[in-house]
Amino acid sequence: MNYFHFGLKLMILDTLKKYRQTEIEALNSKLILSLNIDGLPLFKSSKTSAWPVLGLICNLKPPKPFPITLTVGTSKPSNLEFLNETIADINSLITNGIDFNEEHFEIKLLCIICDAPAKAFVKCVKQYSGYYGCDKCEQRGQYLGRMTYPLTENLVYRTNESFRNQTQEEHHKDACCPFLDLPMDMIKDFPVDYMHQVCLGVMKKLLITWMRGPRANNRLSSNQVAQISAKLISFVQYIPQEFARKPRGLEEVDRWKATEFRQFLLYTGQFALRGVLSNNLYKHFMCLCVAITILVNEDLVLHYATYAHRLLCYFVRNCRRLYGEEFCVYNVHALLHLKSEADTFGSLEKCAAWPFENYMQQLKRKVRGGNNPAAQLVKRIFESMETDVVPAQIKVKKIMVKIPNNVYRTDRKRFCEVIRPVNREKQAFLCREYYSPECSFTYPCESYIIGHAEFLNQNYTIKTIDAENLTTRCLKVPSHHDNRYVFIPLQHNFQV
Ligand SMILES: [Zn+2]
Repeated sequence: MNYFHFGLKLMILDTLKKYRQTEIEALNSKLILSLNIDGLPLFKSSKTSAWPVLGLICNLKPPKPFPITLTVGTSKPSNLEFLNETIADINSLITNGIDFNEEHFEIKLLCIICDAPAKAFVKCVKQYSGYYGCDKCEQRGQYLGRMTYPLTENLVYRTNESFRNQTQEEHHKDACCPFLDLPMDMIKDFPVDYMHQVCLGVMKKLLITWMRGPRANNRLSSNQVAQISAKLISFVQYIPQEFARKPRGLEEVDRWKATEFRQFLLYTGQFALRGVLSNNLYKHFMCLCVAITILVNEDLVLHYATYAHRLLCYFVRNCRRLYGEEFCVYNVHALLHLKSEADTFGSLEKCAAWPFENYMQQLKRKVRGGNNPAAQLVKRIFESMETDVVPAQIKVKKIMVKIPNNVYRTDRKRFCEVIRPVNREKQAFLCREYYSPECSFTYPCESYIIGHAEFLNQNYTIKTIDAENLTTRCLKVPSHHDNRYVFIPLQHNFQV
């Protein structure tokens, strides 16, 4: 394989010099680092893939991932030697810190974000398809044509000590994990990534099951699938600019990106499925929707993480009943481990692969033609080190006046649409503020818990509202009741 090590110190210094002094000062002399390791197929026509090790300074805004090491070959690396220099770099920087512009920075490793196969590979443990493949708990899987994890209660959690002592031998492979050399928690510092496990995992699995699943009673007719698609497409006009993609129909579900599954799970799915999916499957889906909405939002995590966990336990238990035992694969089981990730990191967004995934796609686009892709990538990365400038974060909040970007929440149950600025300085805006909020759903809880509210179209007053009160951007979509709209605050982190 071709291997190139850029070096962690060089890449951190290169990253820091692209930010303004105000952003550097906000770091308080501390750099919080996360890492990502994953395979990236470079071409459709061959097995050539890159295995970059990426880094990110999490407390630097906006986030900008950088490569530390690049490995390219015609297969997955056969061993973990490609991590050695990175791990030595981390060890040295944790011990010595780093100096930049005459300031000394302490370095802390926050976490290592990988999808499940890559995580098992770099931790030298059994894959999730093996009997002892859960990296968070010790339960033995049950093989039903695929590995399933039936337990939802009395889980025995893995700990840093139990991992390092290999107390459950069956979980470990013979090879010795290079990360053991680092002063890190071998369980907590490898979080479950909800982008892979929930968005591309459970949400995709549910959609595919509804469309093509083995159980006829859970399957939607082609007419019902078309109804859901039509509903999703009708939402295109309501999706604000923060979303990277507009909704697409289910006929394209095999090409949906992770962000599209997130959009469905957190925002559009509850409307598109209502009245089409059977009532019991819909209610079951709503438990997942509410639980994940809570766990991706820092404020909601503080108040409702335990409730979200109870919903997820209920969801996983009922997957068995509704979809069969063989549905409870690792991704479904991993839902039981999400609350502790949200507690540890603040929210699921804080330990998800989104920024790395974006960067990987950029890397892929840097390869032009099949001739020596490793050399091409290294050259392009050095070129971009010269030219890339991180856009300064917009400190002055811009209030939008055009549909669908003009919808805001001003308080817990207060929502408005901005009509126009009332003065030239644009510090105050003429708005339609809606009154008499109602729940947009009542199962599994009142919709207010996650900030959703429904209003009659005509229930508004015209009011002047100061820009500083136009805080949270929202989505406004038609309710299934005539003449009503539902307001949904944007929950997840749109910086990535
Ligand atoms: Zn587990």
